[in-house]
Amino acid sequence: MSAQAHGILDLDEDELVACVACGLCLPHCPTYRVTGLETASPRGRIAAMQAVDLHGAPLDATFERYMEECVQCRGCEAACPSSVPFGHLMEGARAALDEHRRRTRPWARRAAEWLGYRVVLPRHWLLVALSWLLALAQRVRLVPARLPVPRISLRSLARPLRTGVPGESADAFLFPGCVMDAWQRDTHRAAVRVMAAAGPLPGLPGRGADCCGALHTHAGRVDDARRLARRVIASMPGDAPIVVDSAGCGAAMKDYGHLLGTPEAAAFAGRVQDFSEWLESQGSLPVRATGRAVVVQDPCHLRHVQKAAGAVRVVLAPAYDTVDTDDDGLCCGAGGAYNALQPELAADIRDRKVAAIRRAAGGRADALVASANPGCAMHLAAAGLDVRHPADLLAEALDG
Ligand code: SF4
Ligand code: SF4
Repeated sequence: MSAQAHGILDLDEDELVACVACGLCLPHCPTYRVTGLETASPRGRIAAMQAVDLHGAPLDATFERYMEECVQCRGCEAACPSSVPFGHLMEGARAALDEHRRRTRPWARRAAEWLGYRVVLPRHWLLVALSWLLALAQRVRLVPARLPVPRISLRSLARPLRTGVPGESADAFLFPGCVMDAWQRDTHRAAVRVMAAAGPLPGLPGRGADCCGALHTHAGRVDDARRLARRVIASMPGDAPIVVDSAGCGAAMKDYGHLLGTPEAAAFAGRVQDFSEWLESQGSLPVRATGRAVVVQDPCHLRHVQKAAGAVRVVLAPAYDTVDTDDDGLCCGAGGAYNALQPELAADIRDRKVAAIRRAAGGRADALVASANPGCAMHLAAAGLDVRHPADLLAEALDG
């Protein structure tokens, strides 16, 4: 049985003291690798949480910076021999910080966060409308190139995603999500084509599936994340598998049991599968061997949280020559909104990942990069790599 939470961060004391400070997680931490600072390491962050929660240190700007510099990749959690649940500790610390800074943050930032998290993300129609404006602004060069936003396709925005299968009679759902459906809808279309070639044509969720809440959880907005999770659960009734082609969304939805603490949420979470994970379970796909090399980038939420990164290689192998990087799955620095909030650290972390990808590609100038997470794909594409989702790669290799 776990210990009660006592301190200002409200963290589980058993989880908090489980760290034995061995340091085995340090090489797996991207922020430690680029800074060399103990305070930017998992061990240092846990020590800071212990100081605040157990020993009364202040919840000040320094503590906030230590927490905010964490990408929440959970590479440390996967490497920890003591099974310290770093992800849950960091989510708890972020939630306490969010509560605290609602009173202390500059009003402009609070207003921007309220608009983004409370107004736009929960209303998909509004996100799509704003994406139209953004796409038009891109056409007249009003969007600075340094912003981490891909070029949005007007043609794709104009064509809503449809499969023709009513959700209530579907053998599987495809969850489109928020930003991915607005900015990368063609990847959903590719996923639908591949799913139809593998088995059932998927159905789409009913009303309420606007956003899974992953970005809210990352930001410590747990109440908002819970509200969104309840709506997502209600939008996909029954027991059909829920296929998610965004690794970050899939990881958040697989954690709904923990987030909401109800048997219904746990049952729903048990139905969630990553796109490649589901595809692997369907057997072989009618694809041709393309002869092209693909360097596989493992999104942290697929590798460390969902532990389903192997499926990407299995489903791509009949069509592509898959190649691994030599960095043991180190994070690329995208991390939800991390590349927007911590642009310098995110760029330094990405530089390492890009170098690892180029080493893996060797001399093959036409090598592609596979990424199962839209955030990682956008972040790496901004560094000049040709990044595709496994669904796009497979749709291209389908026979006929
Ligand atoms: S988090 Fe785990 S691996 Fe890292 S220092 Fe603590 S006990 Fe060691
Ligand atoms: S979650 Fe990632 S960035 Fe944060 S401490 Fe762990 S390894 Fe480092």
